[in-house]
Amino acid sequence: MELCLQRIRSTSRFDNAQHRLCQMPKGHDGKHDEFPYLRHLLKTNPTVAAKIKRDSTMTTGAAWKSEDAGPNRILRWMMLLSDEELLEYGVNMVALSAQVVAKLREKAANYESCMRVARKLTWLAYQMPGAPVPLEPIRIYLEDFYGSMNVHSTYCLVCRLPLHFDLFANARRGKADVETAHSNPRIHDDSNVGFAHRECNIAQGAKTLPEFYAWIEAILDRVKAD
Ligand SMILES: [Zn+2]
Ligand SMILES: [Zn+2]
Repeated sequence: MELCLQRIRSTSRFDNAQHRLCQMPKGHDGKHDEFPYLRHLLKTNPTVAAKIKRDSTMTTGAAWKSEDAGPNRILRWMMLLSDEELLEYGVNMVALSAQVVAKLREKAANYESCMRVARKLTWLAYQMPGAPVPLEPIRIYLEDFYGSMNVHSTYCLVCRLPLHFDLFANARRGKADVETAHSNPRIHDDSNVGFAHRECNIAQGAKTLPEFYAWIEAILDRVKAD
């Protein structure tokens, strides 16, 4: 599908670093929209729509309590800029600890990747049992990118058990029971993302999935040999 990709003005102080672009089909009617496929979820399940937007475009939030510990979340594409460039946007990387800088830099991804991730996550969310039925234009749009949608076909990226849409609403200490997960935590792109149970995502940690499975397997082998 050819996209409109007209610039959408935003009030973000980071707007000059990366223009927001319309993701509607080229030649569309009506207003430009960066997340047209989220319009329906924004009405039916606004927290899910907000989560998809946030997880696709922002670095993960961390419990960095103090001011000097750094921004809780920042646009992933900003983390592709140099320290000098970031300073012009009021982000002082030098003031942050090396550990925080490494965490933030690891989450860097370009704008196009983030847009692909948001689309892929929406396509996956609609295929969870219990998900709302997508409006026809949204279904057609998403299927044009990722193929036909079948309910009950979205599994936890890590443990491969089915994921129910209700898990989004199941929040403990403000964290949903389903999280955005990465096969390789250092790559943020559509081919590498999915949803996972919160506990599965935590267990995987910084390992790639193959590393994680090998680690589990070795543990089980030792347990069995004991
Ligand atoms: Zn447009
Ligand atoms: Zn799982």
